Amino acid sequence: MLPTDDAVAGRLQLSARDRDKIVQRFASTVKFPTVSAPEGFSLEPFHMMREYSTAAWPEVFSSLEMELHGGASILLKWEGNRTLEPVMLAAHQDVVPAGRSDNWTHDPFSGEVFQGRVWGRGTVDYKCGYSGMLEAVSLLLTRGYKPERTVYLAFGHDEEVGGLSGAQAITDSLIAREVVCSSVLDEGGYIYSDSDGGFTAELAVAEKGYASFRLVASAVQGHSSVPPQRTAIGTLAAGLVAIENSVFPRTEISGGISSSRWLATTAAPTVISGGYKENILPETAEATVNTRPSPGSSVSEVFSHIVKVVEPLGIVVELLDNASVSEPSEVSSVNTRDMTALRDVILKVIPEGTRFRTGVFPAATDSRRYSKVAQNTYRFMPVHLGNRGIGVLHSVDESISVADYLRCVEFYAGYIARVST
Ligand SMILES: [Zn+2]
Repeated sequence: MLPTDDAVAGRLQLSARDRDKIVQRFASTVKFPTVSAPEGFSLEPFHMMREYSTAAWPEVFSSLEMELHGGASILLKWEGNRTLEPVMLAAHQDVVPAGRSDNWTHDPFSGEVFQGRVWGRGTVDYKCGYSGMLEAVSLLLTRGYKPERTVYLAFGHDEEVGGLSGAQAITDSLIAREVVCSSVLDEGGYIYSDSDGGFTAELAVAEKGYASFRLVASAVQGHSSVPPQRTAIGTLAAGLVAIENSVFPRTEISGGISSSRWLATTAAPTVISGGYKENILPETAEATVNTRPSPGSSVSEVFSHIVKVVEPLGIVVELLDNASVSEPSEVSSVNTRDMTALRDVILKVIPEGTRFRTGVFPAATDSRRYSKVAQNTYRFMPVHLGNRGIGVLHSVDESISVADYLRCVEFYAGYIARVST
């Protein structure tokens, strides 16, 4: 049984009116179609959302120093004692496209609040972080809180397309100033439904890498009435099945990971093409295989494995070298002050009876950039993903319960107050 939003609001000591305003401010950020796309995208919705945010959380933008990086990424600095190590929290502003809006029950950019949930693209991924962190700082400011350690809030604008102009630009500017944070807290983790009806909150102390490979099978173009033993399409299909049936070399993952999920490297064919007419044997057929190398493995190790599996079939493999390629992360320490603060605050905000464990996050986040300026990287948000788990991200009808959003605000406020003293 999940607690109602009243329980979270009560712990935050919010009046019903304040609570509604908090939810409305969040819902308003969902209305800005801050969609990023690999072929380029407009920064206008980002500028508009920033303008809105400045007006919605005026005390945050007047008390913290703001810098713009890479066109629309925001770095906010809440200055503490300069001799102490700073700490960072990160949330990306961009969202993936919504697809056809008539597939959605509620318009993806309406920010509709209906039956205890806020609906729309980005509600979970990851405007609950963007808006939730601003709300948390606002709450702390109005309650007179001053951080001892400097707190950075980093809001990238192109995470969904690799983070090369946003998170990377923020990272570069911090490197230039020789800023090193004790840790960065980014998206991921989540609260999952268990098969026994219970829930588990998972804090990710590592994330997988990311690499896609193009596979090309060739044959002689010809008449389909006299096919050879092996066609380009048949060879490619055999190669894809061989990859699916193969087992990637098992890697040793050290450190304090208590969950056994998502430890193995995965490979999934995601794009396929070949042929253009029903009675012509095509000269080539090609497919893209997207892989997620596990911590302890590497992009080159995955490449070698795929080559070993499909080369005997005559298939040529090539790495798709783009902004999204990344090596798996290091495993962050679970024995740090920041981790203790995180664990304590998580245990306070998650519903009673929820289990807690540490694990690996299967997707890549902006933290792979920020990890260059942070000694440890943690990924968590107190959001229930429901029965579909991570599959719900990027899907139609993305939504978050009001209780979970308020829990985000409580979590960020609690964590900032605890970690920055
Ligand atoms: Zn995300």
